[in-house]
Parts: sequence; structure tokens; C-alpha cells
Amino acid sequence: MSRYIMRLDDACPRHDREKWQRMEELLNAYGVKPIVGLIPDCRDPQMEQYPEDPEFWDRARAWQSRGWAMALHGWQHVYVTREGGINPVHQRSEFAGLPLDKQKEKIAAGMEVFNAQGIRPVAFIAPSHTFDKDTLRALLECTDIRSISDTIARAPYNKYGFTFVPQQTGKARKLNLDWVTFCYHPNVMGEEDFLELEGFLRVHEGEFVPYPKGQTKRREDVGDKLLRLGYFTMRHIRRKLSGK
Ligand SMILES: [Zn+2]
Repeated sequence: MSRYIMRLDDACPRHDREKWQRMEELLNAYGVKPIVGLIPDCRDPQMEQYPEDPEFWDRARAWQSRGWAMALHGWQHVYVTREGGINPVHQRSEFAGLPLDKQKEKIAAGMEVFNAQGIRPVAFIAPSHTFDKDTLRALLECTDIRSISDTIARAPYNKYGFTFVPQQTGKARKLNLDWVTFCYHPNVMGEEDFLELEGFLRVHEGEFVPYPKGQTKRREDVGDKLLRLGYFTMRHIRRKLSGK
């Protein structure tokens, strides 16, 4: 049986209030405590379509006190390189490929916002899933964060001084893996997405666990490496075929 983690990306003052509210009520109804990727200082033009919510940080603090895990989701959510880094889900990044100093500035600036708002992150979530070893170094030097929600693997493992918690799919479904994180973006969810998610929650609610705090001693094994190789090879082929 798998352990499932719910992850919600792109929480920031400009968001689709109704959809986030609906997600919150849905997860509460099934007793699921997600990890939330909060953007400290969002400048992503795609988010401008949403009105600014003056109560957003109150809402975020309420999630935190309810036991939802908080994650540092980059700094401004603006892509400045075409690098995939060590988890090349996309060929664009706010971090991967930048010099260490620049990455440290971004991480430190994000943490300053969180500190001012009373948000205590337990993990890092890179926008577009992309980061490199210097991102990890920046986190080690500027934060207490020692957990990354993003890798392709069967189960969490320890590497480079971090616990990596696998995140393999954007849709709740059964996968033959020990730990699975479903990554949702409430802002862009449609009616169908909510209904499908609720259907899955109804059957599997007992299999959801909160984001693991603390460090694992497990090292990645050959199964993890093969899974990753297969996953990124498939993505690469799909990208070539679609001409992107
Ligand atoms: Zn994002």
C-alpha cells in the first residue's frame, strides 16, 4: 500500500480564492493535511489575473496552526534560466544555472518575508521543480530547511544533506510506489479535477499522511535510479515529439 501526500502549489496573495477555499474544505472533510508551496514575493505575470487578497497571510498562518506543512516555493516565481538542474521536469528555472551568490540572495529574501509573516517552512519546493546543487548549498547556508519536496523515487531518501521526498504526479491515482506526492495547482483546477480528486479521496483517505518531518537515513537505491531514468527519458522523448 502506498503512502500519499497532498501538495498544493502557488499559494500567494494573488490567487483564486474560491478554488483554494474549495480545496481547503475538501481536504478538511477527509482529514488530509497537505504541504503548501507559498511564494514569498510573487511577481509571476500569470498570477496578475487574480485580485490581491489582503488576508492571505492570515489564512496561511491559520493553515500552519492547523498542521499543514509550509514550504518555501522559490522567491518570486519568475523563470530566468532555461536549465533543468538535477530534477529536470522542465527546462526553465528561477534557480538552476545561477551562481551561488545570486541563489543565496533569492533564498534569503524569501526567508525574510516568511520570518516577517511568521511562516516556518519545513521544506523547499522549487518553481517548475527545477534546482541545482547550488540551490541546495544556498538552502544549507541561509535556512534551516533540510527537506526537498521533489524527486522521482519510490520513497524518501537522504542525499547532499537533505531528505528528498518523491513527487511523481500531478493527479491523484494509484501508482506502484511506496510514497507518492500528488502536486495540485488549485488556481487552475476545473470542476472535473475537483470531482476526480474527491472520488480518489473517498476511496483512499486512510492512505494519506502528512508531509514527513525530520530526516530519513535511507539512501537512494538502484530501483530509484532506474525509475528516475525511465521517467526523464520518457519526458525527453515526449518533449522531442511535441517539438517543445
Ligand atoms: Zn509554482
